[in-house]
Amino acid sequence: MSLEPGWFSLAAITGVLCIAAALPYLVVTLLRARPLDSRGLGHRLDKLAATAGVRRCRFLVWSARRRAAENALSVGLLPATRRILLAEPLLRNLGEDEIEAVCAHELGHFFYSHSVYLLVAILASIVPLEVMGHAGEHLGIVLAWGGLLLYLIVVWTLVMPRLSRHFELEADLFGAELVGWRAYTTLLGRQELPAGPRHPTGVSRVGRLEAMENAPRLRRKLLARGRLVRLGILVWMGVATTALAVSLR
Ligand SMILES: [Zn+2]
Repeated sequence: MSLEPGWFSLAAITGVLCIAAALPYLVVTLLRARPLDSRGLGHRLDKLAATAGVRRCRFLVWSARRRAAENALSVGLLPATRRILLAEPLLRNLGEDEIEAVCAHELGHFFYSHSVYLLVAILASIVPLEVMGHAGEHLGIVLAWGGLLLYLIVVWTLVMPRLSRHFELEADLFGAELVGWRAYTTLLGRQELPAGPRHPTGVSRVGRLEAMENAPRLRRKLLARGRLVRLGILVWMGVATTALAVSLR
């Protein structure tokens, strides 16, 4: 039995979309997260989300035991599935102003639809795999596999980490403007965050924010780069799907 041309892209895109759609429900179920009490802190965070212009965002708590899990995460692509999950140690050890600052960062991710653009970038990174598979029929197996390997290295070691870091900086700027620069940078300094694949160190994030606070030109530059990055992702997706359509003819 031979498979129809285009089957790989269709199957991969369907698989990624199904995972992305199920992720908010999976995370909430696996972490056994429960809604945050809508009075007190819950009410304050709902007001923060409304001020941020992020609709239908729900705040939940999960029972992480380790202090290292003093953390928060956001999931959900569409307004109806937006969830911000707060670990119990975070609620125990941080003051309400600090928790608000943590949530302001996560609201920044929703405001700029970062997970939607990351999803489009992942889809755009998958589609050319089949294009190169078809190109291999003309170019030969060595060139096709070499090109494929180079493409994957460039996408996953250069493009995606930079994209993630840019989105984190954008969420930092959004958070700082939402709750106030001092409150936000104090939180980053207090957490002494180590560098990770997505985040620069806490010290470096504070440095970037302080530079932007003192020089509005840098703030405008970051936001302009953000618009360019989002446009770039859409163009990447457009080029990838056009290349696939041409290669399937
Ligand atoms: Zn973040």
